[in-house]
Amino acid sequence: MKNKDYVEEFIENLRFLYDNKKQREIYIKILDICLEKPEDVGKEQFYEMYGNYCDRIIVANAQPVYREIDYTGIVTERKGSWREELWKGKVGGQHICYTVFHFMAVCADGRIVPCGPMVNPQLADDAVVLGNINDTSLLDAFCGKKRRDFLRMLLEKKRHEHPICGACHCPDATIFHKEDDLDPYAEELLPKFK
Ligand code: SF4
Repeated sequence: MKNKDYVEEFIENLRFLYDNKKQREIYIKILDICLEKPEDVGKEQFYEMYGNYCDRIIVANAQPVYREIDYTGIVTERKGSWREELWKGKVGGQHICYTVFHFMAVCADGRIVPCGPMVNPQLADDAVVLGNINDTSLLDAFCGKKRRDFLRMLLEKKRHEHPICGACHCPDATIFHKEDDLDPYAEELLPKFK
């Protein structure tokens, strides 16, 4: 099968999924660095190809999220997420990392950690380990005291004091929607995680 045929088959499957999605929402995203240049032409083509088969579509700006990756030549320019001002000299301004409020990750060795960056074995000593999949259920890890304590630490705006979170770009780079910004709601949310 040629690449073109794979794409056509993929779009056909996507159309089927969209027509039968019921209560699901389909969200499609691509990184800007994957588009052919000139970028605006690539964007238009991407929206044209997939825009009719999803509820939301976005061309995300690639950000240097993982500190163990050398982004030289990959991300040549820091473009903003919706909070453009954060990327104008104030990188690291976001206090609360919203992703961990609905996310956990399981490492290859079974450790359950709050997020993707903590899976990195080089950071294992500083990672917040919520249990091991071999003896802890995901539900227990998700609802457990350790995770609540961790989320409270974020809500108390102590992220920058944490050895991993303090150096992580995710909170600034992964905010795509206004609703993802939990900073203004910290006080309201805090009592819910006692
Ligand atoms: S700031 Fe980074 S390391 Fe900390 S919880 Fe968020 S994604 Fe994980």
